[in-house]
Amino acid sequence: MDHASRLDSLGAGLERPLLVGAPASLRYLTGFGGSSGYLLVRPGAGSVFVTDGRYGELAEPLVAALRDTELVVSTSGLWDVFRGLLDGVEVLGVEAGHATWEFVRTLESETGVAPEPTTGVVEELRRTKDADEIAALRAAAAAGDAAFTRLRELLGGVSTEEELGWALVDAMRRAGGDAADWDPIVAAGPAASIPHYRAGGKPVGAGLLLLDYGCTVDGYHSDMSRTVWIEGEADPEMVRVYRAVAEAQQAGIAAATAGTSCGDVDAAARDVLAGYGYEEHFLHSTGHGVGLEIHEQPWVRRGNDDLLRVGDVVTVEPGVYLPGVGGVRIEDMVLVTGDGPEVLTESSREMALG
Ligand code: ZN
Repeated sequence: MDHASRLDSLGAGLERPLLVGAPASLRYLTGFGGSSGYLLVRPGAGSVFVTDGRYGELAEPLVAALRDTELVVSTSGLWDVFRGLLDGVEVLGVEAGHATWEFVRTLESETGVAPEPTTGVVEELRRTKDADEIAALRAAAAAGDAAFTRLRELLGGVSTEEELGWALVDAMRRAGGDAADWDPIVAAGPAASIPHYRAGGKPVGAGLLLLDYGCTVDGYHSDMSRTVWIEGEADPEMVRVYRAVAEAQQAGIAAATAGTSCGDVDAAARDVLAGYGYEEHFLHSTGHGVGLEIHEQPWVRRGNDDLLRVGDVVTVEPGVYLPGVGGVRIEDMVLVTGDGPEVLTESSREMALG
């Protein structure tokens, strides 16, 4: 990953110093994946990466690979370091979506700077995925697919939703994907009507099963959902729901082209569900960007006039949820290319589990 060029582009676009602390943005700009770090980016005056003694050794080669960037390892506390670094700085950009109220108030009182809230500065750069990022996203998607390919086998070794979730994580790890920071959603039978159900002790092995899971490669997430009917004849109502969701999903994927608004992609999927009379049972938006965060820009939701661009990676994941009966969600990751949408997750979309 070319962190140096990313940091250069960020610095070139800034008018005043910016303090970056959001973990995904730090990772994007420096490769640092520890829990304590700040990057002070000063246009025209270089950058400073600040961490504490636990991470100094780890940060050294990362910072050395950046241009015009100094490493400060704090041993006497963060505020001592910031008081020195921010001496003479009047206004400092602070990420509004990350910094806490407490942090900002302390920054003000300890250093005397005027914090200025910023939104989406690094996120905007992160949105367009470069070749290295696309390779990582592809590898993460492939690990998710590898786990799905083994679903029949995995079901043979588990008895509950929760155990199947662990087995999926294990299967992804064996296929090169690190565990994500969220647990797989594994919902059996009527529980599938709860979009973000928490896997529990319900038995799996027959009937309806909804899975939503993913992993990471180099910090980049995969995210996919499949709904299957495991044994015997599927319930006719769920078959109809499945057909509607599958059609809606294909319509959403087809609409995910550069220059199309996120709202229009959402509408493409939503209109199909409305045609089946399921509009009220689609309880969330059609998708989201995915990268160093599992949910990030752009937001594929109703009314969003943000236009998709080449290099965006978004999910398309319509669902229909019938309380007490069950639910269906089908989710894929889609790369927006100059030649149209490219689906990164390749698992079968058949309702009957082969
Ligand atoms: Zn998702």
